[in-house]
Amino acid sequence: MPTDALTVGRALIAGYRRLAGLTDADPRLDTEVLLAHVLGRDRSWLYAWPERQLTAEQATRFSDLVERRATGHPVAHLTGTREFWSLDLQVTPDTLVPRPDTELLVEWALECLADRPSARVLDLGTGSGAIALALASERPGWQLLATDRSPAALAVARRNAERLGVNGIQFLAGDWLAPLDPTLRFDLIVSNPPYVAARDPHLARGDLRFEPPAALAAGPLGLDALTRITATAPRRLAPGGWLLLEHGVDQGAAVRELLDAAGLRHISTRRDLGGRERASGGILA
Ligand code: GLN
Repeated sequence: MPTDALTVGRALIAGYRRLAGLTDADPRLDTEVLLAHVLGRDRSWLYAWPERQLTAEQATRFSDLVERRATGHPVAHLTGTREFWSLDLQVTPDTLVPRPDTELLVEWALECLADRPSARVLDLGTGSGAIALALASERPGWQLLATDRSPAALAVARRNAERLGVNGIQFLAGDWLAPLDPTLRFDLIVSNPPYVAARDPHLARGDLRFEPPAALAAGPLGLDALTRITATAPRRLAPGGWLLLEHGVDQGAAVRELLDAAGLRHISTRRDLGGRERASGGILA
């Protein structure tokens, strides 16, 4: 991309062109986010000031970021942040990049315990802390615990809590429920576990190549983590407690069966922004 005498308007056009046709990319949005990041402005500023000249340094930085995006690096890794539930989260290659679809779990959890100013809630495999932080920011009275097997991911989650000034989440290192006091019972357990099938070709394409495999893939059918969680988490629910799980769009029936086999009742499934089955849950009656 030519970087001399680059105006905001020209930079946007150059970015759109460079990213056109890239797997997982939204050329317009990605270009805007990267340019706004380099200039330290928000996206609407770009359209108010199309004639503004970039400094040589800004032009070079922008061009470098667009080139890295063109080789597949997720936008969130290039800017270091991703917005989730209106929270500006720090994201590194140690965590899954929070997806808008996962906000569905947050909404559902808030509905389940709508009349509960205090509750004990657990987020399994918290990654960047997205779900736990969103819930804690909405319900400061809830007692939140979050676990993750990856110490590097937990470090990101803890930093996010600190940066956002969200206090009181207990972050614990370990596999799913392993690090918890076995006598604890929860009013709600939520998880966005890995659920992609190990041989799914998507893992070798687009943004997924740059995210931690352990946060994405889960056995031959992608059901290993979901099976493990449904086999163990219900025992840790308080009577009337909820288990809510994100899953792949073709896994709704399988996860409903797992929840049923675990003895949960009032099992239901919710659809994502694209209208596909994306999360299922049930209650310990
Ligand atoms: N929704 C993600 C994807 O398909 C997968 C996230 C996950 O495995 N929890 O890209």
